[in-house]
Amino acid sequence: MSKEICLYRVSKIKNPDVKLWMCFPSVYSFSLSSLGYLWISKEFDERDDVFVERVCSDTSSTCLSVKELDFIGFSFSFDLDFLNIFKMLDKYSIPLKAEDRDDTFPFIFAGGPVITANPMPYSKIFDFFLIGDSKNVNTTVVDVYKNNRDKTKDEILNILSDIEGVFVPKYPKPVQKSTTTLDCCVYTPIISEDAYFKDTFILEIVRGCSNCCAFCLASYLNLPQRNVELSKIIEALEIGLNFTDKIALLGANVCTHPDIDAICNYLLEKMSKGKKIEMSISSLRADKLSPLIVKTLVRAGCKTATVALEAGSERLRKVINKNISNAQFVDTVRVSRDNGLKGLKVYCMLGLPTETMEDLEDLVKFVKTLKTDFKGFDLSYSFSTFIPKPHTPFQWCAREDSKSLENKQHYLKKEFHKLGLKASFSSVKWDYYQTVLSRGDERLGDYLIEVYKNGANLGAFKNSAKGLLDVSEFVGEFDINSDLCWDIIKVKPEKFALISEHNRLLH
Ligand code: SF4
Repeated sequence: MSKEICLYRVSKIKNPDVKLWMCFPSVYSFSLSSLGYLWISKEFDERDDVFVERVCSDTSSTCLSVKELDFIGFSFSFDLDFLNIFKMLDKYSIPLKAEDRDDTFPFIFAGGPVITANPMPYSKIFDFFLIGDSKNVNTTVVDVYKNNRDKTKDEILNILSDIEGVFVPKYPKPVQKSTTTLDCCVYTPIISEDAYFKDTFILEIVRGCSNCCAFCLASYLNLPQRNVELSKIIEALEIGLNFTDKIALLGANVCTHPDIDAICNYLLEKMSKGKKIEMSISSLRADKLSPLIVKTLVRAGCKTATVALEAGSERLRKVINKNISNAQFVDTVRVSRDNGLKGLKVYCMLGLPTETMEDLEDLVKFVKTLKTDFKGFDLSYSFSTFIPKPHTPFQWCAREDSKSLENKQHYLKKEFHKLGLKASFSSVKWDYYQTVLSRGDERLGDYLIEVYKNGANLGAFKNSAKGLLDVSEFVGEFDINSDLCWDIIKVKPEKFALISEHNRLLH
């Protein structure tokens, strides 16, 4: 195959009305595996009146200069993306703070899950934010701008602040998250051998997850769960498989697509007719992993898969609304082994609300049983720590003290070592600062600029707060009756429903 294949028609306009950079806060190869970023770039690119240039952290030259642009948009998917965003702004001599940019600078905006959840830490940096996932918002922003370009930047921002799904920090008002109906299958519109997932056609078949685990932002931020119609998935697969053998099905919970069996049967039939397919699936839910899904994965070259157990004991799994019993999990391991997988990576979280050492002891007993019952099957474990996320029923919960989390990690490392099991652990210290970023407010802006200037290592996160603010206030328990800075972003379920779910699970 050629180096890079573009699966859509790029508009060949000579005099575009609107010129924009879509920026990706990492290297080019990662951008080529980022579905959301590529799709929004494509949507702009297909308009005859918009010229869009994709710019990444390692882009060496651009067609347009900053002063020729109307907009610079950033994709913001991970908490720490702000560091590369600042670096990119610096690289093009753009002041980091919105107040330091006059009308000669383009509008700087951001969108993505981090922003939709809580844009407030970045409110001093960007001119506006796209909240949610609707294509109509992007289109409306461009149209509103075109119709008002004779006005000042401030006047235009004021007008933009009235669009549903747009949040303008300078003109703050409650903003409803925009939600797309997902009436088409979203896929990587470029297939490239330079992509991080080389030559892979990634398609999203499910958005959101109706299981509503109480810590899960991917679920709560994307409700209701939207399933792409089977015919549209098949149509997309036909397009992708014309150009590559590698496909990846994406979604918070792919196994719950109502037509997952039909999708598997379609792929199995293709393979039985001689078509080579290599497939991966982003995430699997332990209680939904059927023999057919495993057979399809194995036939398509998968050796291992990842499933989430989350919490060590059945009690704690109930508390977090992940109602998977040990028996169901054992079944999942059996189905995986009996249908050809060589192993499973098991994902767990430490420090979930109400967790005690007893839950961890239960986990150790359980993994010991699994080891004995499934000799030769490669089970490995990975542990992150709980980070309370906005718009979830656990948004008010405290993050467990770092020392206590490190003690728990130490205990598990020792026990897993004794059992001869592989286990990896996230950094408690970095997860602490991710909590600060998740639940921080607008005061974080100056702090984040300091962190960036001081080298952005752990020491910088620790020392840059001095004299500015006390970041520990974003890590403790929040009063359930207090106003939260992200309340300005209106999502469903509403706050009263989150309070009721919080109380149901924890009291
Ligand atoms: S099953 Fe997975 S994706 Fe769904 S809510 Fe739970 S953790 Fe989130």
